[in-house]
Amino acid sequence: MTVLIAGGGPTGLTLAIELARRDIAVRVIDKADEFFQGSRGDGLQPRTLEVFEDLGVLDQVLAQGIPMPTLKILIGGQPVGERRMGEVVDPTPDRPYPNAHMLGQSRTEAILRDRLSGFGVSVELSTALVSFSQDDDRVVAELSTGETLAVDYLVGADGGESVVRKQLGIAFEGTTDDSIRMLLGDVSAEGLDHDYGYWFAGPDNPMEGIVLTPLSGGDQFQFGAPLGDRDLEPSLETLQGLVDKYAGEGVAKLRDLTWSTVWRPNIRLAERFRVGRVFIAGDAAHVHPPTGGQGLNTGVQDAYNLGWKLADGREEVLATYETERRTNAARVLGISEDLMQKHIDGDECALDRGDDTRQLDISYRSLDATGPLTTGDRAPDAPPDRCRRQQAPPLRSLPRPARDPAPLHPRNDDRPPARRDNHPRDPAWYLHLPRGVLLLPRERWR
Ligand SMILES: Cc1cc2nc3c(=O)[nH]c(=O)nc-3n(C[C@H](O)[C@H](O)[C@H](O)COP(=O)(O)OP(=O)(O)OC[C@H]3O[C@@H](n4cnc5c(N)ncnc54)[C@H](O)[C@@H]3O)c2cc1C
Repeated sequence: MTVLIAGGGPTGLTLAIELARRDIAVRVIDKADEFFQGSRGDGLQPRTLEVFEDLGVLDQVLAQGIPMPTLKILIGGQPVGERRMGEVVDPTPDRPYPNAHMLGQSRTEAILRDRLSGFGVSVELSTALVSFSQDDDRVVAELSTGETLAVDYLVGADGGESVVRKQLGIAFEGTTDDSIRMLLGDVSAEGLDHDYGYWFAGPDNPMEGIVLTPLSGGDQFQFGAPLGDRDLEPSLETLQGLVDKYAGEGVAKLRDLTWSTVWRPNIRLAERFRVGRVFIAGDAAHVHPPTGGQGLNTGVQDAYNLGWKLADGREEVLATYETERRTNAARVLGISEDLMQKHIDGDECALDRGDDTRQLDISYRSLDATGPLTTGDRAPDAPPDRCRRQQAPPLRSLPRPARDPAPLHPRNDDRPPARRDNHPRDPAWYLHLPRGVLLLPRERWR
């Protein structure tokens, strides 16, 4: 089997690792001439950390990143308190990484690229997907290098402007709001303590301000500042002016602006995630406001869901990708949109992040499923000694899961918590994961 992935961002890289480690021939092409530099999606959610653990990159991600920082709130130049964007939760066996971890997107991508190179695959830069056609048996892709390539499957992980989505004629429903614009980027700030994040606002409107969050691996912060309807250049001078306005003159001297962009809310969901042998994933399929810190995470998990299914290749398995991931993307977009509305409304809870942003409550259980645990649930972890008591085979002798463990579900408010006592006793039902037991009939996994 051969798979072509258009786009070497976090989604394409995750998918490529998933395929390469299953010995599927994969190529990753990217139209960019060099790798993206910038912190963009710097909030990695617990569910993504679990995926990264399975991909073999978690140690590096944890070592290179930092925990979610405390935000110092300064209104009119006066400190009024400190706040965390989410409650810090202690790890448990079934939630070993319960808190979001901060790592600039370019560094996450570099870690993923490094892992991918271990399988002998690298991202082919300056290589755009130009067009493609498909029939029942294959996809034929035309690349900007002049190469024509026939593959079994094509995946568009080519971002919000996805050529793949557009050529498939898939509607990208949602809204773009030009009235709200923000200046975003990475900058160093002399005068600020890099162990903290900052919220600076004026006394007249404490909910309109500039946020700076520390980035690991240097002295930079990621900033977000409101631009309103002003037509300002995303430059160091513009940003210094905004910091002076909200924090007060002389509070922070900015330098080393290495990435900046003007952002406006673009919240969209593709009508379909697949046409025939062509799939879309990540921002190509859904774009989020950065408020929820969900975009990169959702793309990584799309890829994690799709990878093993492509490797499996059976139609009934492939068919579940769109159902599971589009439903999830719609839900996640709702969370990000609610948070963005709180920002717009000046709600004082706008900086708070609830349990839903951790993405550990995602479930793919079917609507007619009634059991305490069914396929698609996230199960509480069963410690290995417990597994042994239930005569399951030892962890190390088990085959690699074909199914992503991410759809396990520890708790859901609308049903009783799953109890380990409810697990079937037949070891044929056990699929052991790095941390946990997913209940699946044995025929669902290789
Ligand atoms: C300021 C900001 C903050 C954010 N914060 C967060 C956060 O905290 N948490 C979070 O989860 N997300 C966040 N996001 C969102 C996150 O950055 C995106 O969701 C993520 O980059 C999507 O990854 P992707 O791989 O799907 O697409 P992209 O990262 O957009 O990658 C697509 C790739 O495809 C390539 N490409 C495009 N067209 C072609 C073509 N025709 N042929 C070949 N290659 C092509 C592009 O060059 C690019 O490299 C934030 C975004 C912004 C702007």
